This record gives sequence, structure tokens and C-alpha cells, in this order.
Amino acid sequence: MPELPEVETSRRGIAPWIENQEVSRVVVRQPNLRWPVAPEIERILPGQKIRSLSRRAKYLLIGTDAGTAILHLGMSGSLRIIEAGAPAGVHDHVDIELCSGKALRFRDPRRFGSLLWADNPHEHPLLRNLGPEPLDDEFDGEHLQAVARGRRVSIKQFLMNASVVVGVGNIYASESLFVAGIHPKRRAGRIALHRLQSLAAAIKMVLGKAIKAGGTTLRDFHGSDGEPGFFQQQLEVYGRGDEPCLRCKRPISVIVLGQRSTYYCKNCQR
Ligand SMILES: [Zn+2]
Repeated sequence: MPELPEVETSRRGIAPWIENQEVSRVVVRQPNLRWPVAPEIERILPGQKIRSLSRRAKYLLIGTDAGTAILHLGMSGSLRIIEAGAPAGVHDHVDIELCSGKALRFRDPRRFGSLLWADNPHEHPLLRNLGPEPLDDEFDGEHLQAVARGRRVSIKQFLMNASVVVGVGNIYASESLFVAGIHPKRRAGRIALHRLQSLAAAIKMVLGKAIKAGGTTLRDFHGSDGEPGFFQQQLEVYGRGDEPCLRCKRPISVIVLGQRSTYYCKNCQR
């Protein structure tokens, strides 16, 4: 599933091709995604100039003067820049064609993605209750402490709650807790401020590193062959059950928390 770093990498790869370009035509081959493709995408988008491609959580926002298309990649979605009119595969559901002769193509085999429309995306029901962006300054240990007060939920499940902070999925929650030395089952409301500050810094570092790794793949978003090359990441603890901890060499443990596999070191994380 594309996580925040992959979505941000997609945004950076695609933005130079679509920003300040006028939409000439929209082709919707399959409107039945997680929700039906918003009719405004075909009705309003053609003729509009794309002013910006921004991101909020894992939503990409294609901004025009007439409104904003809200695109989510779901479980298996991907975006590519192609020559407009290039032959479409069975999973190529939407093309947004541009006056430049290029097109933004949305492919989504499992169809859990979505393409919606809003006058003000930040007031859209899917976006308006989201917590802060992890890489913004307003996200810090003090924020975590304020939201965690009195909460008995495990810190790992707490971090994966998008009303606390967006974009910290299963992999990055495990990685960040390892870096900060915090046991994933520790109750969120029972962690000292200095440890929450370390945790916020770890989240910024882990996500920042992944986005930086993605930067090396940006050219892969242009061209019609294959999938965008999502990057191999250097993970310190996730997926390393029974392998030696990179710090203390003892075996990494795996437990299930909130139905998600959770990797940690019993010795290094308290
Ligand atoms: Zn260890």
C-alpha cells in the first residue's frame, strides 16, 4: 500500500508535468472506484488550468480555479505521466489529458483508490478532521502529549490514528518506535514528554529519510511502461522478526497489535 513517503514521491514526480498545464480532456474508463469518480472530474476539469498539485495526508490535491480534485491511491493505485491517447491497460481507469500532449494516468488494479471533487478540499469530510502533518513544525512532542493525555491505547495504535497525526502507517510506526526506544504496547498517556519529543523527532527522521530515498526514483513517473519504481527502503526493525537487533544483536520480536504485525526489540524498547 502506498504510504505517505510514496504519495509525496508521486507528487514530486508528477507536479512538474501537470502544474500550470490546462486540462484538455478527461477519460474515465471505470468510474466505480472505492467511491464513484465525482462527475465534476469530467464536467468541470476540462478547460481548467492546474494551479497546484499538493498533498494532505495521503490525498493528492489537484487545484484549479473551479475547485479541487482529491485523489487517493488506495491499496494499489499508481500515477504516471504518459503521451495522451497511449493504449490503456485494463486497470488504467482515468486519464487527465493536458494541452501539452501528455496525460496523467491513474491505474488501480484493486480499485480502492478514489477521485473526488471539492470546492474547498480541507473542509471535505475525509480531510477536515485529520491531525497535523508529521513533517510540519506544529507536530512535536507537546502535541503528542496533549492528545495522549488520559489515553490508555498502545502508543503504536495511537500513532496510526490519523486524528493524532497523519501518514504514520504500520511500517513507519514500528520504525519510529524502535528509533525512539519506546515499547509499542506502552500506553500513550503514560509516556513522559521527553520521550514523546524523541518519538516526534524519530517520526520526522524516518519519514524524511524515506522521502529522500524516493527522490532517486522520480524519473520513473514518466513513460508508459511498468509501474512507478517504489523504492527499497532501509528498514531497521519492520519485517525483521527473529533477526538480530541492529543495536543489541538480540532477536527482534513480533506481536500483533490492533490486527497489525508489530516488530520491536524487547531489550532496546521500554
Ligand atoms: Zn535491541
